[in-house]
Amino acid sequence: MKKKFFLVIFSILFLFPSKITADILYLKNGRKIDGKIVEKNEKGVLLKIAGGTIDFSHQEIERIESSQMPVDEIFSPKEIYLKQKKEIDPSDPEAHFKLGEYCYTHNLLDDAFFEFEEAIGLDKSYLKKTEEYRKFLKQKEAIDCLNNVIDLNNSGKYELAKIRLDEIRKNFSKFYEKNKLEKFNIVLERNLMTARYEGKLREAISDKARERGFFQTDTTNFKIFADNEKSAKLMAKKIEDLRDEVAKKLGFTFLRKWAVPCKLYIYSDLSKFLEDSGAPAWASGWQKIFFKVTQKIVGDAVLFEVLVSERRIMVYEETTMFISKATAHELGHMIFLEFIDGKSIPLWFNEGIAVCAQRIRPLNERNLLKKIKNNDSYKVVNLLEIKEYPEDQTIFYAQSANIVKFLLEECGAFNFIKLAKRIKSGEDFYAAFYDVYRGYFRDALSLEDAWVKYVEKKAKYEFKL
Ligand SMILES: [Zn+2]
Repeated sequence: MKKKFFLVIFSILFLFPSKITADILYLKNGRKIDGKIVEKNEKGVLLKIAGGTIDFSHQEIERIESSQMPVDEIFSPKEIYLKQKKEIDPSDPEAHFKLGEYCYTHNLLDDAFFEFEEAIGLDKSYLKKTEEYRKFLKQKEAIDCLNNVIDLNNSGKYELAKIRLDEIRKNFSKFYEKNKLEKFNIVLERNLMTARYEGKLREAISDKARERGFFQTDTTNFKIFADNEKSAKLMAKKIEDLRDEVAKKLGFTFLRKWAVPCKLYIYSDLSKFLEDSGAPAWASGWQKIFFKVTQKIVGDAVLFEVLVSERRIMVYEETTMFISKATAHELGHMIFLEFIDGKSIPLWFNEGIAVCAQRIRPLNERNLLKKIKNNDSYKVVNLLEIKEYPEDQTIFYAQSANIVKFLLEECGAFNFIKLAKRIKSGEDFYAAFYDVYRGYFRDALSLEDAWVKYVEKKAKYEFKL
């Protein structure tokens, strides 16, 4: 590395005078300015200084003296380069090479690349001489390209970002670690898929809502659409308080205003609700939260930030409880999933949270205890493994919710938030789960013991009431 440094210094001295005759302006106000007079007329002088030129009238100037000054104190590297470029013999490859080196050491990388290419065009032996420089310049170009891909991705132009990334993978693959490029590729693929899905869904829902002539009303955090004005107005009156209530139930003391409001669709017609949401026949609510991944390069690291790009809730106005039940349930899903950046969590935990958010619970502890005693409930070890919605949803939802309730009430909201933070950071769910609650239970079996004790205690209390 050092060797090259000396070579560069030598070439600069060879090609560029290091000092030039400069002018020192002594002004009447006592100031002294160094530069080079580039123009003079009856009014005054135009002085070239580093970074530009300034006018001085003759009245301002007391006297002018000459002095030798380093050339780069008056001219910028770009100015020096352009000046030299005019003076070299354009058919001399060595002159282009030296200009290239000058540009390279002065961070004029595009110009450096241009001059090296000129030298190579005139004499192929410069391919070898410029190899190291060009490798670095390629690397720089590759980083610029990758930053461009990140910008495109961050502004939602995934198609274009994908094309650019493929170009990088083709042209610059040897300048990047393969897995870094692949990591980007995965993020892009995912965003692209989400965008396509989201686009289709948005189209489907917005068109249908329009076709159906839904009544619309807005609150701070919601855009409410309903097939009847009464329901829309009722929802508008209650939804903001419900949002706060659900957040508090889940241990989040304060919920900021959503930058992206939630679109909330209310259907009084079940078949239309099912058709538009694609939810299973037994469902009375559906929610979806879309995320967008943004990245930035800080030094060598790639930082990811997850932002919500869209939220939707659809509810079927089954009974008058559609707000306190279905809507609260879907809000529970949404608020928790947003907090953990949409990371995946076990089904029982996800549904348990949502049921806890409701005002109406499916089974109280006395009835739950009966089910446990009659072996009509799940063994906890089996419940934790469930991946698909089971046939008997009542006990699945009730038991899941009661375990979450146990976690919130007996083990404290503080630990619940601690768990949520660890899930958000990407930790394996059960690793984080058993570690956060290690003072209460260690595995599925000891969780079962602790939880059943809790149900018994609550049932007794309910009985007394
Ligand atoms: Zn649910």
